[in-house]
Amino acid sequence: MIRIGHGYDAHPFVAGRRCVLAGVEVPSEVGPDGHSDGDVVLHALTDAILGAAAQGDIGSVFGTTRPEWRDAPSSRFVEEALRLAGAPSAVNVDVTVVGARPRLADHRQAMRESVARLLSTGVENVSVKFSSGNGLGELGRGEGIAATVVALFELGP
Ligand code: MG
Repeated sequence: MIRIGHGYDAHPFVAGRRCVLAGVEVPSEVGPDGHSDGDVVLHALTDAILGAAAQGDIGSVFGTTRPEWRDAPSSRFVEEALRLAGAPSAVNVDVTVVGARPRLADHRQAMRESVARLLSTGVENVSVKFSSGNGLGELGRGEGIAATVVALFELGP
């Protein structure tokens, strides 16, 4: 059975925090605030997986403010969502990161490889795109960062 999922997440930036996106640490003066590592890409990917399986969302499933998730790598949410969804296989995944900073163009390949590894699929099945926000609103002013993910999965019987 082929199922589509969509996810969205946004976090404000704070100074002096690591900036981890799609599991890749990116050089930045600011990082996404959050209880876990604040990785908006993996949070949106988690919601896309849960969405494809109609299993709720990251907040309802994981209670993301629970003590065990403090500074947790967000790959754990993805791994657990995959388990809940019955280990679906990814057909393709398309990620868009929205925000004025940091500069991400040099990290596209590492982010594609990181997502592909988490989903046990080939890098050719993972697209990562960047949009600056064109100066509009909080994202366009570099006050935070957001990600959307749309993904197609093949779920077992
Ligand atoms: Mg989040």
